[in-house]
Amino acid sequence: SYRKGGYHAVRIGDPFAAGRYIAQRKLGWGQFSTVWLAYDTQSSKYVALKIQKSAQQFAQAALHEIEILSSIAECEHSNSKCVVRLIDHFKHTGPNGQHICMVLEFLGDSLLRLIRFNRYKGIELNKVREICKCILVGLDYLHRELGIVHTDLKPENILLFSTIDPAKDPVRSGLTPILERPEGGTLNGGSTMNIIEKKLKRRARRAVANISVRRASMGGEAPKSARCLDGIDVRCKVVDFGNACWADKQFAEEIQTRQYRAPEVILRSGYSFSVDMWSFACTAFELATGDMMFAPKSGQGFSDDEDHLALMMELLGKMPRKIAIGGARSKDFFDRHGDLKRIRRLKFWPLDRLLVDKYKFSESDAHEFAEFLCPILDFSPEKRPTAQQCLQHPWLSLSSSDQNEMHGQPNVDVGMSNLQI
Ligand code: ATP
Ligand code: MG
Ligand code: MG
Repeated sequence: SYRKGGYHAVRIGDPFAAGRYIAQRKLGWGQFSTVWLAYDTQSSKYVALKIQKSAQQFAQAALHEIEILSSIAECEHSNSKCVVRLIDHFKHTGPNGQHICMVLEFLGDSLLRLIRFNRYKGIELNKVREICKCILVGLDYLHRELGIVHTDLKPENILLFSTIDPAKDPVRSGLTPILERPEGGTLNGGSTMNIIEKKLKRRARRAVANISVRRASMGGEAPKSARCLDGIDVRCKVVDFGNACWADKQFAEEIQTRQYRAPEVILRSGYSFSVDMWSFACTAFELATGDMMFAPKSGQGFSDDEDHLALMMELLGKMPRKIAIGGARSKDFFDRHGDLKRIRRLKFWPLDRLLVDKYKFSESDAHEFAEFLCPILDFSPEKRPTAQQCLQHPWLSLSSSDQNEMHGQPNVDVGMSNLQI
């Protein structure tokens, strides 16, 4: 992809925007871009520099993303709204063409990495609650104040950040949470996960070394590492607005990443803000259990779409006939009685039972969590609570009594207390 029309190759120390931003290290990449940690010489702060591929369709997508991000950044309170903030944008010409660049506030690791670093065992419920509150504040702002549907909410697109006041704690305020397991942690030696983590660690060390080489010439302090961020209020923000749209100006019929896709999108019954709420519930379940709520697969004689609908009904009960047969694609999956055509026998396993039987939740934790999630997973999009309504739900203000125990198992949740850059 590093050819004409593709990614721009970056070397550490490369200047951007007439020398205002200096590239430090790669933070991540996607189908459209590479994202770099950069030092902003004007504000003396670290930023994330998203450098788009140069071909026409990528440039167009970047302009769309900038339009959405600009409207998000316009609100004076947007900084506290749990949504990523656009700081600047410009064009950069290189050997592969002209690349549109977005300068975003620098955030930490994604929730997907948080889930991985807890070895897919789920995160303590009290932390799930805190994360859920942040996501809902972000969604409420997007939906109610801006009229924007994100359309791709999932753990990968929610990034951690720390909220330490630089005036109170200047040393730790520059820290952005990047997850790393402690030495001698609970890992089994030699597992694939362990090898990947060792590689990540080595790479992180090298990156930190690179930063210190550059630091002298920049005059700024690079974000440092912290062995332990216990007691730091870690929050998260919603990112990646490449697929977002205004509710009244939709352009794509098929939206969302498969596992987080709402039933009305599969059935082509039209969609609105409530598709984000569906993805939110899937994300909350995944945080608490470490497993995706729905992981559909095609099988003999049925498609992944039909499997997905079957999985939804096994967990949430039968889809009302009116909804099942009401979409432009309903006939592909349902007969006129509202029964699936190819998957005839469903094995019902309601959410609260699943949480107890499979994930070893206590009866009360399971009951309370299911009461929070089930209304958001209503097959009827209009009946789902809004983000604003969810924020009022009692589950968010509950507190699990024993913080050192997770679903009756020893606490393996080390991710949040060992954040590192
Ligand atoms: P996609 O294929 O997911 O649409 P994309 O090219 O639009 O990818 P993003 O998803 O915006 O790119 O970013 C790619 C990765 O870069 C993210 O998954 C994340 O790891 C990292 N990243 C993005 N924005 C930031 C940020 N503000 N701070 C820190 N890291 C970031
Ligand atoms: Mg992304
Ligand atoms: Mg994107």
